[in-house]
Amino acid sequence: MVEKKVRVRFAPSPTGHLHLGGARTALFNWLFARCTGGTFILRIEDTDRARSTPEAISAIIDGLKWLGLDWDEGPVYQSGRRERHAKAAEELISMGRAYRAEGKLGPQQAVIFRVPDEKVAFDDMVYGRIEFDAGLLDDLVLMKSDGSPAYNFACVIDDADMGISHVIRGEDHISNTPKQLVLYRALGLEPPRLAHVPLILGPDGSRLSKRHGATSLSQYRSEGLLPDALRNYLALLGWSSGDDQELFSKEELVERFSIEGISKKSAIFDPEKLGWMNSCYIRSTSDEELLEEALPFLERAGFHGIASKKGTLLAAIGLIKERVRSLVEVPGAIDFFISEELSFDGEAVRKHLSSPGSLDIIQRLAGMLQGLESWDAGSIESSVRTLASEMGVKAAAVIHPTRVAVTGRKIGPGLFDLMEVLGREKTVLRLKEATDKFGEV
Ligand code: GLU
Repeated sequence: MVEKKVRVRFAPSPTGHLHLGGARTALFNWLFARCTGGTFILRIEDTDRARSTPEAISAIIDGLKWLGLDWDEGPVYQSGRRERHAKAAEELISMGRAYRAEGKLGPQQAVIFRVPDEKVAFDDMVYGRIEFDAGLLDDLVLMKSDGSPAYNFACVIDDADMGISHVIRGEDHISNTPKQLVLYRALGLEPPRLAHVPLILGPDGSRLSKRHGATSLSQYRSEGLLPDALRNYLALLGWSSGDDQELFSKEELVERFSIEGISKKSAIFDPEKLGWMNSCYIRSTSDEELLEEALPFLERAGFHGIASKKGTLLAAIGLIKERVRSLVEVPGAIDFFISEELSFDGEAVRKHLSSPGSLDIIQRLAGMLQGLESWDAGSIESSVRTLASEMGVKAAAVIHPTRVAVTGRKIGPGLFDLMEVLGREKTVLRLKEATDKFGEV
């Protein structure tokens, strides 16, 4: 048998946000197209004019682009194909397979398909053989009385017209499949291969919903997820490569993806794991790229005109990227590098800057650093250690107060590295300021 050229589509109804489930369906279709050299089509199923909105269409398009999924054809707007749908409905009427009836939605007569009393069966590529007694179905609405096509009908006509070879969609559509199959049969068309993907459940085992936290792509974006991380995570919701590997670049996903790797078992959404994956991606993203991704978050946090500080920002990002799980945390992790005014953590000050001894230490250190020949982490570290031994204290007794004086807090990246990035002038100034600020009057 000659396999048909792969043509798949993502067919969202633009009635709200792009949710994780939809994004995953889009990703699986995209991966299947890319790994088979096929075509990925975006079809916007906007026939429900009352519920479809331009905002939702933008959210879908922006969301797919953000995830790095590109389409080869489309977007095709289903609403633009209304005449085609009406004509196909007429054909079914003239074949005696459908009839007109009064409807409630509008002045036109609805068109209803007379569902035959027959058996339908299909080999789902994920769930295996599924058989269904179509005789149990009610007659099917093809065209509603407002002139718009019903989902099952428009879907069949469009999939057939677009030459869709495989339909990959959520398991919640299994119940629609027999309805679509009787329509294919009535129209004398060959149905596509079908692959239904399992539902995504929350950690408590119930269907993923707002109760479990963010469900829309845009929310994840504004919560600081990197698109590469979310794409990787979504790929593993219902699919596995067959081994233990969890981190996959886009290229690796394309290489490894197969419909056989999709599981029948529901996928459990684990926000902890997503956070972990995001931190892995943050760590492995270049400083340049990470800064680019973090800029909107820095601006939102009130840092403006930071373009002129690019050098410092890049170095700062390089130091903190091991420590943050999301882009949202970036401004808080690097603020002390760029803000003029330090904000001090009260507990850190109490613990490390409230004794006269520690203030004396940082004052002396300021003096030493001023005269330091070369300003680099290694030389700074030697000064700190020399001072500690001269004063007969442990290095920690110098390090802790110094960190609080120059960053305002107890924890952060390696002290000597961050001092190097901060620069001599700012470091010395902060050590002196802390001595004045927290010293006895
Ligand atoms: N518009 C439908 C949805 O968003 C498409 C389902 C399908 O892929 O056939 O659920």
